[in-house]
Amino acid sequence: MSSDKKTIMMMCPKLTCRKVLHVPETARGKSIKCRSCGTICRVPEGPASAKAG
Ligand SMILES: [Zn+2]
Repeated sequence: MSSDKKTIMMMCPKLTCRKVLHVPETARGKSIKCRSCGTICRVPEGPASAKAG
């Protein structure tokens, strides 16, 4: 659909939550709050292309 706004997908670091968070690219290098558990997690600055397992 609209590929205008890029978003980053990251997983909540809290083991009991592990919710996938969608954050805007503008949040790179910043800290966001998990909307599920409220844990503060840092958004990685680099591209989140995790190909290597
Ligand atoms: Zn969480």
